[in-house]
Amino acid sequence: MKQTEPIKVMTEGNNLKSYEEAYKNFNWDEAEKAFSWHETGKVNAAYEAIDRHAETQRRDQIALLYSDANREEKYTFQQMKEQSNRFGNVLRKIGVKKGDRVFIFMPRSPELYFSLLGTIKIGAIVGPLFEAFMEAAVRDRLEDSEAVALVTTPQLLNRVPVDELPALKHIILVGAEENDLNDGFYSFEKEMEAASPELDIEWVDREDGMIMHYTSGSTGKPKGVFHVHNAMIQHYMTGKWILDFQHGDIYWCTADPGWVTGTSYGIFAPWLNGVTNVIRGGRFSPEDWYSTLEKYGVTIWYSAPTAFRMLMGAGADVAKKFDLSKIRHILSVGEPLNPEVVRWGLETYNRRIHDNWWMTETGGILISNYPCMEIKPGSMGKPFPGIKAAILDDEGNELPPYQMGNLAIKTPWPSMMRKIWKNEAKYKEYFRIPGWYISGDSAYRDEDGYFWFQGRIDDVINTSGERVGPFEVESKLVEHPAVAEAGVIGKPDPVRGEIIKAFISLRDGHEPSDELKEQIRVFVKEGLSAHAAPREIEFKDKLPKTRSGKIMRRVLKAWELDLPTGDLSTMED
Ligand code: ATP
Ligand code: MG
Repeated sequence: MKQTEPIKVMTEGNNLKSYEEAYKNFNWDEAEKAFSWHETGKVNAAYEAIDRHAETQRRDQIALLYSDANREEKYTFQQMKEQSNRFGNVLRKIGVKKGDRVFIFMPRSPELYFSLLGTIKIGAIVGPLFEAFMEAAVRDRLEDSEAVALVTTPQLLNRVPVDELPALKHIILVGAEENDLNDGFYSFEKEMEAASPELDIEWVDREDGMIMHYTSGSTGKPKGVFHVHNAMIQHYMTGKWILDFQHGDIYWCTADPGWVTGTSYGIFAPWLNGVTNVIRGGRFSPEDWYSTLEKYGVTIWYSAPTAFRMLMGAGADVAKKFDLSKIRHILSVGEPLNPEVVRWGLETYNRRIHDNWWMTETGGILISNYPCMEIKPGSMGKPFPGIKAAILDDEGNELPPYQMGNLAIKTPWPSMMRKIWKNEAKYKEYFRIPGWYISGDSAYRDEDGYFWFQGRIDDVINTSGERVGPFEVESKLVEHPAVAEAGVIGKPDPVRGEIIKAFISLRDGHEPSDELKEQIRVFVKEGLSAHAAPREIEFKDKLPKTRSGKIMRRVLKAWELDLPTGDLSTMED
């Protein structure tokens, strides 16, 4: 297995001084003392994230800094408190109760954030849906969750098959005209205006439901993952030690709240830690992104490999046009972060990009690179204090360093999912080895305790008796100057078991050719190993991806083998 040269320059982190110390002495019970419920016994995560600050000198600090092509708005913690209170009252008035599911299907906007927090404040369970979902995806999720209310816009309403969803009784429209409002429809603006900014918060049990997220659909049909208020402990602590939130930070998480990163780290972690949260509507473009970083003086930036690869593809010259000097800390999640991207980031932003690993099901970050530690590009880092991670074989035996196996986490931890909605059997599969959560990812650990992601368990390739993780091959491929992105699969072969096939999209200015294929093959053979070099290469204009930007290897495989592609509800157009 390949190791990389560690990057020793530390990031100026402040909250966590020594990873080893913290790991040795950590105790979740201590972490809980940061919350007001530790004193009062009254629990509600939205209260902790917003209202608690509104009751201190942070009251008039900017909590939300929203911008898109048409709007630029700021809201203090006090204003966020009032707006979310109003929305809580709107829901109560129409009869929504604790435990009911309220879904939100709309583009990023301040209204989305008021609705989400207001829903949680009355003890209902919120389900954010990504705005680009088409009708089938929306129907599946509303049907499965039996949502009773939906917040959406008139523009998106034609993707909501209202008549076919018996549980769905109330639709709250943001930006509605009078004639949009049939029976069971409400105007968000009117209801908000009429509602009181004071709310009797629903105090809940820490194990009561808070939010439901459907997974990204990279490996199959998305699962409805159910999280409880207790998750806030993990959101707060990982925010403090991994994102390193400090008083005065301006933070930007680029994920949409339709995906778990956009809530755990786009809402809860920053606000529990009381920092200013930048939310940008609209689509990705290198210029717009850099100008957002510059304009707001972003100090902490959390994004994803697909975005960093696109920024790399746009070139360092674009980055150099902007003043990015306020950025102190950069992080990445969602897919493996190729070492080449980390090296490029260091060169271009003069900052390390800190990879971290977690899943919708885990609710919060479990393995990470910390500002205070050396990072090895290509490794996702070390387990968070309070978390034990291990590599297990299929029987549950811990494997020694450098052996590839199941990445597993000792149960429990505060933000662990509490169920898969209406699918107990699926839930149990994750816990099939007593005392462990089995992630479905394949990884190894090195002798220094760093974890290295290899691929999804199902994507690991068995070629001539060797097990090859697709990520290692993909990372070598993207080091080649002609390669923009790569997706690698195992293709059945009568002699070798499987052969490695690579799908490649080229960078601007490069044309497909047989010579180039051969060049790329040799590049991997010489840079990685002969057995890992793809025997087949196919050029594609674009690789199939989820809407959150993850390469869908199962779709590549289905195309290759002429198999059904399965659930495509989360695939990009
Ligand atoms: P589905 O479960 O529906 O197939 P998904 O697994 O992509 O979709 P998410 O919960 O959004 O849904 O993603 C979690 C997965 O993303 C992890 O299991 C892992 O495979 C991948 N992942 C996340 N962060 C990292 C990382 N830092 N390095 C490598 N892989 C990562
Ligand atoms: Mg998954």
